[in-house]
Amino acid sequence: MKILIGSNNLGKVKEYSALLGSNFDPVPLSSLSLELDVDENGATYEENALIKLNYLKSRCELPIITDDSGLEVNFLEGRPGMYSARYSGDNATDDSNIEKLLNELDAFQMQSKLPLKENHARFVCTIAYFNPSTSNTVITSTGDCQGQILSSRRGTGGFGYDPIFYLKELGKTFAELSAEEKNTISHRSQAVKNLLKRINI
Ligand code: IMP
Repeated sequence: MKILIGSNNLGKVKEYSALLGSNFDPVPLSSLSLELDVDENGATYEENALIKLNYLKSRCELPIITDDSGLEVNFLEGRPGMYSARYSGDNATDDSNIEKLLNELDAFQMQSKLPLKENHARFVCTIAYFNPSTSNTVITSTGDCQGQILSSRRGTGGFGYDPIFYLKELGKTFAELSAEEKNTISHRSQAVKNLLKRINI
């Protein structure tokens, strides 16, 4: 079944193409000359995923999947959270976002003296799904993945904050895992698994 992957983020598009499995034929926005041009001004990940879905629903007849995701760091009271993509400003890059987060974490630690190993973080992903040919109902699904933030980057895989997101039980960052390994445990994979159970595909 063809499905539009409603994201401008190529890292995410790649992951969804693998996570959805062989029952789906993923269609990127670029192949329909679409771009996701929305204000992500919702108050929750779910609201933002729905804003993206509603924008695409009026422009395409295919089943659609959109998402909103972010990294929540306990020492930083949950930041960057919903602001993860543009944490370091309008022209943010993955690198400048990581730099800002590490600087803030460093400042927090200097002040609090709390050990870095007590620094917990989680990635969250909420998906919105709509299939115009089977139902008029939008389905949402959320997944998360617990880890820690390292004080410097490790690994070259993945995207976004992957090089500083550390999984204690594996002794590796997301960026040190293969795509297959990340896809068995990531927040996005949990959200997709929950979704697939609910739509029976
Ligand atoms: P959005 O969901 O498009 O608003 O963007 C979420 C932002 O969170 C991304 O641009 C990344 O910076 C970050 N993010 C979300 N998921 C991941 C992931 O799996 N690895 C690394 N960073 C992620």
